[in-house]
Amino acid sequence: MSREMEGRVCLVTGASQGIGESIALRLAEEGCNLVLGSRRQEACERTAQAARELGVDALAVELDVSSMSSVQEAVESANAHFEEIDFLVNNAGIARDNLLVRLSPEAWAETMQTNLMGVYHCTKAVLRSMLRQRHGRVVSISSVVGLLGNPGQTAYAASKAGIHGFTKSLAREVASRNITVNAVAPGYISTEMTAGLPDEARERLLEQIPLERLGTGADVAGVVRFLLSEEAAYITGQVISVDGGMNM
Ligand code: NDP
Repeated sequence: MSREMEGRVCLVTGASQGIGESIALRLAEEGCNLVLGSRRQEACERTAQAARELGVDALAVELDVSSMSSVQEAVESANAHFEEIDFLVNNAGIARDNLLVRLSPEAWAETMQTNLMGVYHCTKAVLRSMLRQRHGRVVSISSVVGLLGNPGQTAYAASKAGIHGFTKSLAREVASRNITVNAVAPGYISTEMTAGLPDEARERLLEQIPLERLGTGADVAGVVRFLLSEEAAYITGQVISVDGGMNM
């Protein structure tokens, strides 16, 4: 079977675990070479090893998306190893939840710096070469919470809604250079981020999900793979919900 993304290179942020790891391995199945980054390089190395076993070249890098200099260093290492980066998946993210009356300025700032500034830093670091190549794909992982809101998640929701505005604006900026920019808005996905939900909260949550289950990393990874593929060449500036029907 031919592997559609053979020879392409994708930078996936937050690839040490969870959704980022699922995306990385799904792209490896398509033959896509990978640059896998997060603050824990050794954990990304585990994902990279699993990707190599699927027959692709994978480089694990230390990457803190909240810092422009860290992102630049990681992209320089990537460029030294691979000639160019074709695709960027902005997946790294954190949640620091609290009701607004109790939410500290530090928690607000940390959320914004990682989830929204992180997308700015990483996209800026790879965009110039995509513009030169006249092709490229950017997919950012936002959240259903950025579309619907959620009590206790003002900072998280604002950061994810910010990704939607960023996506639509950049899509318009770079469309003429054959670069597409989209966001995927997952609902509740079984990862470490949702592992701490108390049983009662999980029950209440399931009542809001028409498909009556939490999503999996694979549910999200399949849509990201599609948005990076040739079949999605005419899709840009979109926010695609992968949420079991929560937002309809
Ligand atoms: P996890 O908490 O399991 O993983 C988060 C990933 O982000 C880790 O790989 C972590 O790696 C990385 N990360 C965190 N901060 C930074 C940073 N400053 N720089 C680089 N990497 C960082 O979360 P999920 O896999 O569940 O979430 C992935 C994305 O999907 C996030 O953007 C999240 O907001 C979004 N999402 C998740 C949903 C869910 O239900 N799980 C629902 C909707 C959206 P390390 O610790 O090594 O830095």
